Amino acid sequence: TEQTFAMIKPDGVSGNYSSAVRKIILDSGFSIIREVLVQLDEDTVKSFYAEHSERSFFPSLVQYMTSGPALAMVLEKVNAIADWRALIGPTDSGMAKVTHPQSIRAMCGLDKQRNCVHGSDSPQSAAREISFFTTKSLTG
Ligand code: ATP
Repeated sequence: TEQTFAMIKPDGVSGNYSSAVRKIILDSGFSIIREVLVQLDEDTVKSFYAEHSERSFFPSLVQYMTSGPALAMVLEKVNAIADWRALIGPTDSGMAKVTHPQSIRAMCGLDKQRNCVHGSDSPQSAAREISFFTTKSLTG
């Protein structure tokens, strides 16, 4: 089996999509190994999304990700990383509604920034993100 890091972002939590997304996760055969509701602060988001720090949307991304609580989760199943990415759909939720209407981002995302959920994009990212949240943020 494999583990991946998933998050229901602030727009998903405030839009009351947490239970619908959890149901899709469990119905798709994932085990939820750990789950914590976190209020991310600016430094945590800047470090989590450090690869995007030079992008024009970065300040807006930091504002969005700190706008309210997010639900951080470690998911486990065979092929968890690719299967979770396939379930969430493309980054741009507007595009997802057209090209991947069954995806989670089509269901609950709003646009290319407020896309409801996160998923690790590689084994390296999954390891980094799981340990990042385990050691830095999931203290509650
Ligand atoms: P995530 O890493 O959150 O699962 P992703 O891998 O689909 O998403 P990335 O390219 O890593 O997308 O971008 C990280 C996040 O930054 C996106 O999920 C989205 O919230 C935001 N973002 C990405 N591109 C844009 C953009 N062009 N304009 C505004 N926000 C964006």
